[in-house]
Amino acid sequence: MGSLISELLGQPDEKMDHILGIDDRRKGECEQHGNFIDVHHSGKGRVSEGWKGCPECEKEALQARMREEEQQRQMELIRQRAARLVAQSDIPKRFTDKGFDDYKPVNGKSASVLRKIQDYADLLASGEHEGRSLILLGNVGNGKTHLSCALLRDVILRTCKPGAYWTFAELVREVKGSWRKSADYSEQDVYDDFAKPELVVIDEVGMQNFTEFEQTVAYEAINARYLLEKPTVVVTNLPAGDLSKCLGERVVDRLRENGGKALDFDWLSYRNGSAA
Ligand SMILES: [Zn+2]
Repeated sequence: MGSLISELLGQPDEKMDHILGIDDRRKGECEQHGNFIDVHHSGKGRVSEGWKGCPECEKEALQARMREEEQQRQMELIRQRAARLVAQSDIPKRFTDKGFDDYKPVNGKSASVLRKIQDYADLLASGEHEGRSLILLGNVGNGKTHLSCALLRDVILRTCKPGAYWTFAELVREVKGSWRKSADYSEQDVYDDFAKPELVVIDEVGMQNFTEFEQTVAYEAINARYLLEKPTVVVTNLPAGDLSKCLGERVVDRLRENGGKALDFDWLSYRNGSAA
């Protein structure tokens, strides 16, 4: 044994070996790295008992482990950022934790609507959406807000890009607020703010009478996003036929452009068993 080691390494330092817990050596050959001196640990030191194997392989394994740990750290940062973005999206508290899985379709139509919204989420997550919008309309109590919030949350988590939930009343209130003498923002700031997130859900559209002013607000807001090729999800209790009349033709045109679909939640309500 001694002669082989001295051939390759010179005389091993017995004192040092003792400290390191090395009690034997032999010649090793690695398929990748060629010849090396293998050392055997007694198990009395910090290293567990056994032959250590190729030191180059060990170095590479250590580097791979460090790369993996770094990747996981990055992933964790992305997860934290996405969770923060969800928290900042203004999704109503009631729906913050409700995902697609929590939606129980009550019939074939609702199952198909769920699938289409999930397909739309995939499209948005892929980034290949070209600003395609979506309209959810129809009966109260059929889960439009639930699904639109689940969509918003899903897309934020998958893209790690900001999204926002608005109600139409909030938008109108913000615009009117800019007229106050004391206001520290302009009307344009409201539309810029509305246009900023990658995805916006605007809920409760059509709860109001739709004056010419409200139609203008709807147009300015939707159009600001349209110009930036950013998708908007409009949620309304209006029936399909009334949408253009209330919201204005040009708003609906914007939403329909690039293949924007309208999904009609027109089945009887699962909440109260009737079409509210
Ligand atoms: Zn090796």
